[in-house]
Amino acid sequence: MTILVTGGAGYIGSHTVVQLLDAGHEVLVLDNLCNSKATVIDRIEKIAGKRPHFIQGDVRDRALLQELFAKFAITAVIHFAGLKSVAECSVKPLLYYDNNVSGSIVLAEEMARANIYTLVFSSSATVYGEPVFLPYTEAHPLKPINVYGQSKLMVEQILQDLAASNSAWRIALLRYFNPVGAHASGHIGEDPSGIPNNLMPFLAQVAVGKREYLSIFGDDYETVDGTGVRDYIHVDDLASGHLAALTYLDQHAGVVTVNLGTGKGTSVLELVSAFERASGKAIARQIVGRRPGDLPEYYAQADYAKRVLGWQAKHDVDRMCTDSWRWQSQNPNGFN
Ligand code: NAD
Ligand code: UDP
Repeated sequence: MTILVTGGAGYIGSHTVVQLLDAGHEVLVLDNLCNSKATVIDRIEKIAGKRPHFIQGDVRDRALLQELFAKFAITAVIHFAGLKSVAECSVKPLLYYDNNVSGSIVLAEEMARANIYTLVFSSSATVYGEPVFLPYTEAHPLKPINVYGQSKLMVEQILQDLAASNSAWRIALLRYFNPVGAHASGHIGEDPSGIPNNLMPFLAQVAVGKREYLSIFGDDYETVDGTGVRDYIHVDDLASGHLAALTYLDQHAGVVTVNLGTGKGTSVLELVSAFERASGKAIARQIVGRRPGDLPEYYAQADYAKRVLGWQAKHDVDRMCTDSWRWQSQNPNGFN
């Protein structure tokens, strides 16, 4: 019984693979390494004491999927493979739709051909768009404000239609909030290429001396201290949400759509303070203008996940910062 993890060499995927191996599953990672490094597989083995199978390849490669489904006794698929840059998606919309939407279609087609009907899909809180109310519940209107969010919503809708067409499907649509942190070993973590777009990796690079200062994108929002508020969730909590979803799908057919967040909002300044405490470093910062397209504030209603999956996030923001700092300080150049 093997679980196929597409994008399993990436940030969230690698942490999930560790937990799957720890839980006794066989794991096959399919990743084209467009945003990750092959060495992550060695690190996973170092942590878990077991090595996942690894195939470098693209999820849109139909022939390769057919070969893998014939060779391995795959019972379920966790589909992380996708592109996620909000900055890049508006410049390269076709690349994003092809990778995220076409990739998911090819995968689902080949799963059905191979009689594999259990699928966990990486969706995102970006499917909600401008908050009509907060916290976002799963019933909040869906109106993404960028191509990336559109691509996630399209896949959600395609998978809903697919499940309506054939009751064999068991699908979990997991809407992630802001994953941060790293495995407690310090061996794996987030390793963005180039200048990080996201707050936590940027902060960590300032603390380790790779960047001079953090630019804070606006302090005049109507939030607790004027800076942007997000629902940060420890990547290991997010990973355990996938195992909970697989357990749920063992018992339930159809589609389940669940927020994976903590339910708690944290401002940029609050996260900076937590990181200073965790690292013992002062973080140089400058307030600059708002980043175009940024929402002031959002966070999850996390109750549904607790009710249906029996899952809730355990780690607080201090732990997220401690683990991010351990990863960053032990690996100042990431996986390089
Ligand atoms: P990541 O870039 O670290 O991991 C994605 C992995 O998929 C990478 O290893 C990449 O090489 C691989 N990949 C991309 N396209 C592929 C393709 N066509 N074929 C095979 N492999 C491919 O990103 P992540 O943060 O781990 O995110 C995983 C998933 O979760 C993505 O689908 C992302 O959109 C979604 N998500 C991420 C966040 C976040 O803030 N990190 C939030 C919500 C949702
Ligand atoms: N942010 C910031 N400086 C940075 C990166 C992000 O002030 O260098 C802010 C951003 O405006 C938002 C919050 O930090 O309010 C989280 O941003 P991130 O890009 O990590 O997540 P997203 O906006 O995609 O939820």
